[in-house]
Amino acid sequence: MAFIEKVGIIGAGAMGSAIAEVMALNGKKVVIKDINEEAVQRGLKTIDGILNDLVTFHEGKAEAEIRRIEDGNGITLTEEQKAAIREAKKATYTRERAARIRANIKGTTSYDDFQDVDLVIEAAVERMDLKKAIFKELDNVVPRHVIFATNTSALPITELSSAVSPSRRQRFLGMHFFNPPYTLPLIEVIPALDTNPGIVEETIQFLEELRNHRFPMQPIKVKECPGFVVNRILGRVFPEAANILEEGIASARDIDKAMKAGAGWPMGPFELADMVGIDVIYHVAKNMKDMGVSETQRKPLIMDQLYHAGRLGKKSGRGFYDYTATEE
Ligand code: NAD
Repeated sequence: MAFIEKVGIIGAGAMGSAIAEVMALNGKKVVIKDINEEAVQRGLKTIDGILNDLVTFHEGKAEAEIRRIEDGNGITLTEEQKAAIREAKKATYTRERAARIRANIKGTTSYDDFQDVDLVIEAAVERMDLKKAIFKELDNVVPRHVIFATNTSALPITELSSAVSPSRRQRFLGMHFFNPPYTLPLIEVIPALDTNPGIVEETIQFLEELRNHRFPMQPIKVKECPGFVVNRILGRVFPEAANILEEGIASARDIDKAMKAGAGWPMGPFELADMVGIDVIYHVAKNMKDMGVSETQRKPLIMDQLYHAGRLGKKSGRGFYDYTATEE
């Protein structure tokens, strides 16, 4: 298994700073680099905010539970009962623990502290030329064993890997976190053409051992393709939601309501789009188009295959998944 003790992060923006917090939360030493001191300080402030929210949530857990029980049942708990709840719901993350996590993170504008990193995660702005230049610099300053990862949302991984020396390409992959990584546990791991399969497996094992504020992290291996898995699906969902809006079929609020109340989504498509950032979606869509993903939707063969095979989903015991194993 890859032994990763220290992680170098490039870019202290929304993603870089939040990824840094996840790594530090898991006891990793972190060095986070940006182009100037102002950007570094902004990133460190974001991290302080994330940790402060974590502690505030934990500190308030017991009182929130007491209120929930009292208000929900119209009762008043005794002091003993309240004390038992306070004990059971004691904060797992205290101010002291958050301070120890924070002490694992160092902000910088230079590569001086990258000499002893084991993994580098690049989370700079979504531009091919800029990311390539960063990887070229890194290739010259960090030891040979270091794994190179890019958090790109949609740029081709193999093209990015061409910026480093051929031997390093074996240790280069996509590591796509989701926003915000401290609550969303998915990480898409995308090998480039020359990535060593052993490195991919080791990286996935390393990521599986991490957790965020809520869950164990959940890495999945994804073949290099435009948009990977999630953005490829969302790349269809967002334009369709926007078409429905433009055709005057329903308001944005009602489309969001429809997908939450009717399809069980935790957020509507427009709420999600606003959270991800319209610019991010715009660039992902543009990259996907540049990479040859057609704008008209191809009819997927598998739907016909499943239909004619009688695999109709839960009702027939099998669809995309097999439900027969759980049926007695
Ligand atoms: P951001 O604009 O918040 O942050 C980017 C940071 O990179 C900025 O602080 C900028 O100063 C810094 N930077 C620019 N050039 C640099 C350089 N040469 N060296 C070091 N730092 C440099 O962007 P973000 O939303 O954090 O996105 C970062 C990456 O993560 C992008 O590739 C994006 O596609 C990807 N991503 C974003 C999201 C999201 O929802 N925002 C989700 C997954 C992946």
